[in-house]
Amino acid sequence: MIDTVAFDADDTLWQNEKFFQITQQSFESLLKDHSNTDDLGARLLAAEKRNLEVYGFGIKGFVLSMIETAIEVTDETLPPATVRQILEIGREMMAHPIELLPGAGDAVEAVSSNYRTVLLTKGDLFDQERKIAQSGLAKLFDHIEIVPQKSMRTYEEVFGRLGSGASQGLMVGNSLRSDVNPMLEAGGWAIYVAHPLTWEVEHAEVPNSNERFRQAKELREVPDLIKSLTVEARKPAGA
Ligand SMILES: [Mg+2]
Repeated sequence: MIDTVAFDADDTLWQNEKFFQITQQSFESLLKDHSNTDDLGARLLAAEKRNLEVYGFGIKGFVLSMIETAIEVTDETLPPATVRQILEIGREMMAHPIELLPGAGDAVEAVSSNYRTVLLTKGDLFDQERKIAQSGLAKLFDHIEIVPQKSMRTYEEVFGRLGSGASQGLMVGNSLRSDVNPMLEAGGWAIYVAHPLTWEVEHAEVPNSNERFRQAKELREVPDLIKSLTVEARKPAGA
C-alpha cells in the first residue's frame, strides 16, 4: 500500500537548472577579459562541489562559488566591479519568476485527491519558500518540507513522521542521486521523471533492477502510474 506521495520541486515541478546555466554563461562572459582559463566551467563545478558541505544547495552557495572561482582564475586580480557584477547576476536569479513544468499542477492535484501529498525539496529555505509561494501549488499539498539534503535518513524521517513510513511512501523526482536512490534504500517507491538539464552532481546509475523503481517520461503520466502500483501492491502473493 502507498499512503504518502512526495514530489521534488526543482526540475520536477518547475525549471531550475536552466537558470543556473544561463547565469553561468553570464559569469563566463564577465570573466572573458580577465582570465585565459578555458576550463572555467570545470573550475566552477569543482568549487561548487567543494562548497556543498559548507554552504548547502542553492543560489547563495553558487554565487560564493562563482566569486571564489573568479578570484582563482584571475590570480587574485579580480576587479571589485566584476565582483559586484557577479553579485548582481546572483541577485537576478533570486528574483527570477518561477516557470512551472508542463502538467505540474494537474499531476499534483490528481495525486492529492487519493494520497497524502508532500512537497519535499532541498536547498535554501528562503529561496525555496519564495518559489513555492510563487508557484501557486502550495494549496495542493498536505505538507511542505524543505530539507538541507536528501538522504536515506531524510526519507525514513519524513515519511515516518507524515505517513506510515518509507515502505508505504513514494517519491517523485528528477534526481537519481537525491530523489530516487536514497528513497529506494529507505525501502520506499520511487518514480524518476528525467529532466534534460539535470545538474551533473545529481547524476547516478538508473536502478532498473529495483522492483520499487519506475520511470515516467513526463509528469502527467505520474498519477496513473501511482494508481497502477497501488493495485499491484494490493494483489495477493502469486496472483
Ligand atoms: Mg530536482
